[in-house]
Amino acid sequence: MLNYEKIAAYFANLYKKEQMQVFKFGGASIKDAEAVRNMSEILKRFPDEKIIIVVSAMGKTTNALEEILHLRLKGLSTETAIQNLFQYHASLISSLFDKNESKILQLLENLFEDLKIKLSELNKSRYDESYDSIISFGEMISSTILLGFLQKEAFSISKVDAKDCIRTDNSFRDALVNWGKTKETIKKSIQHEFNQNQLVITQGFLGGTQEGKITTLGREGSDFTAAIFAYCTNAKAVTIWKDVPGILNGDPKKIKDAILYQELSYQEAAEMTYYGASVIHPKTIKPLAIASIPMHVRSFYEPEKGGTIIHDCKIIHEIPCIIIKEKQSLITFKLTDFTFITEALISKIFEALNRHHIKINMMQNTAISFSICVNDDLHRLDQLMNELKDDFSIFYNKGLELVTIKNFDESLISRMTENKEIYLEQRTRKNYQVVVKNEV
Ligand code: ASP
Ligand code: MG
Repeated sequence: MLNYEKIAAYFANLYKKEQMQVFKFGGASIKDAEAVRNMSEILKRFPDEKIIIVVSAMGKTTNALEEILHLRLKGLSTETAIQNLFQYHASLISSLFDKNESKILQLLENLFEDLKIKLSELNKSRYDESYDSIISFGEMISSTILLGFLQKEAFSISKVDAKDCIRTDNSFRDALVNWGKTKETIKKSIQHEFNQNQLVITQGFLGGTQEGKITTLGREGSDFTAAIFAYCTNAKAVTIWKDVPGILNGDPKKIKDAILYQELSYQEAAEMTYYGASVIHPKTIKPLAIASIPMHVRSFYEPEKGGTIIHDCKIIHEIPCIIIKEKQSLITFKLTDFTFITEALISKIFEALNRHHIKINMMQNTAISFSICVNDDLHRLDQLMNELKDDFSIFYNKGLELVTIKNFDESLISRMTENKEIYLEQRTRKNYQVVVKNEV
């Protein structure tokens, strides 16, 4: 097992080389003026480094933009919600900049004008495309404010727009990366920026199609953006700055006595993200593993601490690991005409799932029913159920949780299911999974 000194030495060694590295700052790490100042303090710890900084939207901005979009689609007034979101960013600007620096506030006003125009032009029949055109404002705003602030702090920094660097297809809301094109563009633009500056900032979560339309990579996708930039520039490391000390064997906000993993193999980390460990986006690990780029998950509150290193190692942990995936729906497709669930019927369900970009988190069948646990995504699930309603009676439960325990034991199972209603349960030799509802 590594200890903190060894981890620090490992990274100090990496940081010495001339190669660039990638830092990702998520929403919580830039949620207010104090957090933004802390981000700048962290950057000061790496004075001679070339760093690509990937930023999320500030605080809960992405959720607020989703809310604005849904109000608009329902034909309700968006004015108050827009005003609140504007005010949140404007007051952040007023704490970070002097009164006479009105330039950043002007840029914010321009972005909100664009947002209002985009909202007025929405095409209701193209929900996914509309979603990306609105939700992307969160990262456009945060990168603009942070660029201004870091320049004011005398960093040598410039910005590239992720939509011009990360080329995707047009599967809006879950866009697929064209790796060849993306590598070409990123290499060129990053090289150009680093010829003039020490730091480059860009937006997480966003990409762009060949026609110049903005796309998003899936919720919480900024980690993936960091991995894309690292892969395409052959960076020496990626660091994800979080509000937790690293990767633990359970979410410390929900489980007491959680233990920090000092190192994890790519394999084990990828498996944890699959089950819903929200600490890293599921698509992040693969590009890093292919290029053998280590990823460091560490605390922005305690930047001197070691955190977790995900890299090429052979360690397999035997301690239990609890992963809770919230906002789950359980859908059961049932036959009521005395026939059974056949492969042909299952493939019909799978084809529809694939068409609507819905991922299965758990599934089970009986003679006459097929059940899937999926993320709550009303829009996609509505389309799915509509399409299959002539073949099945469909039952739908929302607001559930999927709990996965790797290396489970019976006492942990009782603890995690206490006072909960069990909807679906499965176990293998090492893994236990259950779909539950909190009893009220
Ligand atoms: N802002 C986006 C989201 O909240 C992407 C991210 O934070 O990684 O989903
Ligand atoms: Mg976020």
